[in-house]
Amino acid sequence: MRQPLIAGNWKMNGTRSSAESLIQGVLEGSSGIAKAEIAVCVPFVFLELAQRLLSGRSIRLGAQNVCTEASGAYTGETSAEMLNEFGCRYVICGHSERREYYGETDAIVAKKLAMVASTGMTPILCVGETLEQREQGFMEAVIAGQIDAIIEANGIESFGQVAIAYEPVWAIGTGKTATPEQAQEVHAFIRRRVAAHDAAIAEKVRILYGGSMKPSNAAELLAMPDIDGGLIGGASLVAEDFLAICQAGETAV
Ligand code: PEP
Repeated sequence: MRQPLIAGNWKMNGTRSSAESLIQGVLEGSSGIAKAEIAVCVPFVFLELAQRLLSGRSIRLGAQNVCTEASGAYTGETSAEMLNEFGCRYVICGHSERREYYGETDAIVAKKLAMVASTGMTPILCVGETLEQREQGFMEAVIAGQIDAIIEANGIESFGQVAIAYEPVWAIGTGKTATPEQAQEVHAFIRRRVAAHDAAIAEKVRILYGGSMKPSNAAELLAMPDIDGGLIGGASLVAEDFLAICQAGETAV
């Protein structure tokens, strides 16, 4: 049985005071949620605030990026060890925005995953195809390539400490959501791809869906057998929307 994970990806949003209110709102509304795991992946500068507010509570803290290197002359970067020190449990790696705007290749993503895992935190590996790739029939090839690159670089064992997020690029921030059937098909494909190397790891690995998940579509997505949670962008910025999705995760168990 895989515990659902509902993780908010705040991206580059908020102020100190709005971050505080949002975390307080999520804390207040989540007391009845015990079966689903909840995480908030906040901008680096809010980590200390979030760590303080979440101390002793069950909501996990996450970051949205990490440096490929452990320490040294990498101006502007943040190491896995630093994130771990600030109480992060999760680190999003290879989000399509980072792949597209910051040139993150599969090789870079693989290094980030290894760095995160080396500190005991869990990377959330994002994979997904563009609309063009889907329309040209390359969806499976793209996803397989993104997964295989990590297996080749870090070994299949590395998936013992990873959550995967399937995020079709055409559904991110667009209001368009993959149908539950479309998402399930890709999630099952990802699980089979991992299973070809290690069936036990494939059975355990959590595969989250991300891409315009919201209160109105969360329950039907989360009801699919291979959808083990959600990576939530826009809807994670409104406490009551995020909580409604967390509640859908709770009910899906
Ligand atoms: C994301 O960027 O991870 C995401 C899923 O965004 P949204 O929910 O806004 O589509």
